[in-house]
Order: sequence, then structure tokens, then C-alpha cells
Amino acid sequence: MYDRFDREINYLRISVTDRCNLRCRYCMPEEGIRLLRHEDILTFDEINGFTKAAVRNGITKVRITGGEPLVRKGIVSLVSMIAAIEGIKDLSMTTNGVLLKEFAIDLKDAGLHRVNISLDTAVPERFSHITRGGNIDDVMDGIKSAKDAGLLPVKINCVIVDSPEEEDARSVAQYCSENNLEIRYIRQMDLVRGHFSTVVGGTGGNCALCNRLRLTSDGKLKPCLFNDISFDIREMGYEEAIKKAVDLKPECGSNNSSGKFYNIGG
Ligand code: SAM
Ligand code: SF4
Repeated sequence: MYDRFDREINYLRISVTDRCNLRCRYCMPEEGIRLLRHEDILTFDEINGFTKAAVRNGITKVRITGGEPLVRKGIVSLVSMIAAIEGIKDLSMTTNGVLLKEFAIDLKDAGLHRVNISLDTAVPERFSHITRGGNIDDVMDGIKSAKDAGLLPVKINCVIVDSPEEEDARSVAQYCSENNLEIRYIRQMDLVRGHFSTVVGGTGGNCALCNRLRLTSDGKLKPCLFNDISFDIREMGYEEAIKKAVDLKPECGSNNSSGKFYNIGG
């Protein structure tokens, strides 16, 4: 699929839940969020059906994200459904890693290719502060399990305020070099104010190269993270929503007054 600006759209990111087992300060409010109603959340059959339609239209890369994807009940079965779709060349997941120790082998067996794990500091007390109570040992165990299970390459997403030279980011860089992990730095963004920038070491945030569509856990297809437009796949039907999202994908991001990372998936 090509959009009006001749960008080939071949990458779908699917948020499978708005729930999370951490409360990162830059992502979620401390008191948590008003959760979506159960009936508003897409079923596995809907996610699978939509993904098939997207692949028929030219999607070859799929990333599963959230909220925290590993808290969605039955996530391994969903991964195996998606992995069985012919035409997906790259199937990945973005996770905070907390539950990966438990899931890594099953995810690999289900057909997941690789994982990106979020880690903003390698200092235990700082991790607990940033995530409001998370235990870094869970994540480090998760990273090891992902490597052992062969979910390779394991990439680390590190959110920075300004620069990779910040103390927390440097601690992650050191941890990554000791453990043979790729690192990508993501500047902390503000969707409402429209503050966004490119991902250091990745392609995110560069509008000219953007090849993405995003599906929220309640079935809104978004052509741009930094824009309010979305198309309801239940109301419009899968094919029509895909067509509209590609046709109306903005040339460049601006701002998103209602969207949040935890429900769009970053
Ligand atoms: N829970 C999973 C995780 O944390 O990896 C997946 C969902 S999370 C919303 C996806 C990515 O978005 C994470 O790497 C996270 O660090 C990033 N993120 C969340 N809020 C952000 C913000 N305000 N600015 C930049 N990145 C953000
Ligand atoms: Fe949860 Fe990921 Fe948001 Fe952190 S960044 S609160 S782990 S969804």
C-alpha cells in the first residue's frame, strides 16, 4: 500500500490491551487509568481477522504492544494465531519484560520472532522510582529468558529526557554492552503538545519514512501517533478502515489531543 506521499505502508502495530502492571511516570497516571469496558476490547478473532485483512493489503511487519501485552489473558494463543498468517515477515512484541521469564519460551514456540524490552535505567532504586514500584530483577530475568529462548535480536527501548548521556541512560548503555543487547533511545514525548522527535537507533518519529498503521485495543485504526484521526474497524469494516487510514495518513505529525501511549502502544 502506498499513501498520498508515496510512502509504502507495510507495518502494523497492534495494542492488545490498555492495562499495565507498571505505572511509568511519563506514561500513566499514578492512580491508574479509566479502563476500557470488556466489550469494547477487540476479541482475538477480531484482531486476527483484521490482521489478515491488513496482510492481504500489503502489511509484512507486525508488532504486538499495549499497555503491557503480556497481561492480556491468552496472549500466547493470540501470538500463534497471528504467526500463522502467511505473509508476515517480521513478528515482534514491545514489552516491559516483567512477565517475560514466564512467557518467553511459549512465545517463541507460538511463533514470535523477537522482542523489544523497555528499560530506562539499570539502577534498581531508579527503576522502582520511574515505574512507581517495579522490580528491576524481573526485567533482567525477562531479558535473559528472551535471549535464551531465541527471541532475537533483543532490543532495549530506553526513554530519555534529553540525551543518551544522562546518568540513567548511560547505566542502560553499559548494561547493554555487557549483555550484548541493542539499544534505542526514545526521547520522552508529549502527544498533546505535539512534542515528538526521532528515535535514536530506530526509524520512529521520522515522518518522511513512516510506514506504520496503529490499531488500538478498542478497534481504532490510527494512521499517525501524533494526530487525532482514527477509523473504527468495527463500524467501518476492516478493508474500508485500512483504505481510509492509508489514504488520509497525514504527511507529518502534529499533535494528538486525546491519545495516550498506554492505549496506542507507542
Ligand atoms: N508496556 C510495554 C512497554 O513499556 O514496553 C509496551 C507499551 S509502551 C506504551 C511502548 C513504548 O512506549 C515503551 O518503550 C515506552 O517506554 C514508550 N513510551 C511510553 N510513554 C512514552 C512517552 N511519553 N514518550 C516516549 N515514549 C514513551
Ligand atoms: Fe506500562 Fe509500558 Fe506505559 Fe510503562 S511504558 S506504564 S510499562 S505501558
